[in-house]
Amino acid sequence: MFCPLCKSEYRAGFTECSDCHSKLVATEAEANGQQVGTFWKGYDKTRFECLLTALQHANIPHRFAEHVKYRPQSHSDYEYGIRILLSDVEHGEEILRKLEEADKAEDLDVD
Ligand SMILES: [Zn+2]
Repeated sequence: MFCPLCKSEYRAGFTECSDCHSKLVATEAEANGQQVGTFWKGYDKTRFECLLTALQHANIPHRFAEHVKYRPQSHSDYEYGIRILLSDVEHGEEILRKLEEADKAEDLDVD
């Protein structure tokens, strides 16, 4: 069994990836046939955590990474990235839009 998102191999009997909760597929070829893309990337940790929570609530399997970026003339910073299956991208973008709308609504309240 293989995870289409992490591409890791699991023993028979497993049905779900323990890392990203994707449904496992039977063969490596099938797993490799499912493309993975970057869903979001940025330096905003609050937004990053907010997106992870939203993806969890929507049951969209995802993987994330943190990289330290050394930027000249500036303090080093963490860059965050989230990857999801391309088949989930449409659903994911809907979530992004809703978050942005919620942000705008909050801004209006403040004004
Ligand atoms: Zn996985």
